[in-house]
Amino acid sequence: MGLNEGSAFVVSGPTAVGKGTILKNVLSKTDKLWYSVSATTRSPRPGEVDGKDYFFVSSEEFDSLVESGGMLEWATVHRVHRYGTPRKAVEEAMAAGKKVILEVDLDGARQIRHSMPEALQIFIAPPSWEELKHRLVGRATEGKEEQERRLETAKTELAAQSEFDVVIINDSVADATAQILQILGISE
Ligand code: 5GP
Repeated sequence: MGLNEGSAFVVSGPTAVGKGTILKNVLSKTDKLWYSVSATTRSPRPGEVDGKDYFFVSSEEFDSLVESGGMLEWATVHRVHRYGTPRKAVEEAMAAGKKVILEVDLDGARQIRHSMPEALQIFIAPPSWEELKHRLVGRATEGKEEQERRLETAKTELAAQSEFDVVIINDSVADATAQILQILGISE
């Protein structure tokens, strides 16, 4: 597949655990990493930018990417929207020797474990279940029904954390960032 020149790192973890904040922080400290922008059928949240946060695509566009083999992995997340990793850009970044970050859900992580077994799999966990609920409700980007769906998914994800190579507990963004940089072999 030509995917063996750079290295890939999977980052996964439940809703609202702070993956986005930690990864933004990690990426701001180094130019050695390449973040894979996923495609999604969900609508942008206020402030999200097409092509930067996600490629926001229609259901038809998503289907056609899947059918043409253009997705490295994809999944229906929280039982509603589809999210996937566009294959071509990842292959190019890896061929250029980059360290590639793939932020995906549990299903996507499992698919990548099969297709790219050499990719290190990192799970970001909350300090506690109560704290996770508090963060999700506090950020107020989802309605009540969507929050409940996300918490249901989170239970399954937390139960699967032992599948991952490394578990990082996000009780401080600075500490979690430092741990990830260390795992990636990047000195600040
Ligand atoms: P959100 O809607 O909060 O941005 O993301 C919801 C979930 O989708 C997160 O758990 C995130 O990790 C997952 N996700 C984002 N991009 C991808 C992707 O390309 N593939 C898969 N399988 N999951 C993704």
